[in-house]
Amino acid sequence: MSRSVLVTGGNRGIGLAIARAFADAGDQVAITYRSGEPPAGFLAVKCDITDPEQVEQAYKEIEAEQGPVEVLIANAGVTKDQLLMRMSEEDFVSVIDTNLTGTFRVVKRANRGMLRAKKGRVVLVSSVVGLLGSAGQANYAASKAGLVGFARSLARELGSRNITFNVVAPGFVDTDMTRTLNDEQREAIMSQVPLGRYAQPEEVAAAVRFLASDEASYITGAVIPVDGGLGMGH
Ligand code: NDP
Repeated sequence: MSRSVLVTGGNRGIGLAIARAFADAGDQVAITYRSGEPPAGFLAVKCDITDPEQVEQAYKEIEAEQGPVEVLIANAGVTKDQLLMRMSEEDFVSVIDTNLTGTFRVVKRANRGMLRAKKGRVVLVSSVVGLLGSAGQANYAASKAGLVGFARSLARELGSRNITFNVVAPGFVDTDMTRTLNDEQREAIMSQVPLGRYAQPEEVAAAVRFLASDEASYITGAVIPVDGGLGMGH
């Protein structure tokens, strides 16, 4: 059955692969984008998730076109890497505001329709570094670790309403975000990855789609790594 799906940051990278995976399975897929031209084939809504009014407006547009969101994939995220000594408060707060508080905004708004429908699936895109830590990424890692506590709290709060909350924790994925790394950084990372390569965005999308599928009906509060083994044990 076709469901109403929303993928934030679905215009490129992992989000676009997730949007395609749902669309290929026959779902109605809306994506949010913040800048540039969105890809064709989806209901594309311009929305900066740091702005509550834009989030509200995006939901209104999506609900008018494809009904209340039944499956939410909170994927939008940013990095602003810096060693603590040089990390400004703005670097810290803005990453938290996008990755953690932005996710709160979109999840809270989706919850309204899910409560009414007495069902819903929410998948948050975290990162292996949320649990493993990463030098130079204290802001990003804190935001991604925060998503785990957020999802698990909501899994407890809303399990009785038949809404599941799960987290996918990708390792290094071949997208714009990781293309900024230099060769030396890439080699250092790869030496720690048992599978010895980056993930393709589609490999993350497959795990996300599973968590939103009927097959995953008894899974909530889980953190699923898609990291080639990088975070094993965490
Ligand atoms: P990209 O940098 O390729 O894409 C990021 C997406 O987030 C873009 O669609 C971007 O929109 C959107 N976005 C950023 N800030 C905002 C905002 N304020 N409001 C709305 N949308 C916003 O990254 P990836 O595809 O690699 O990453 C997707 C998710 O996966 C992120 O949460 C990231 O942290 C996570 N992740 C990525 C890993 C990787 O190795 N690539 C590893 C682990 C996790 P726009 O195009 O307009 O800028």
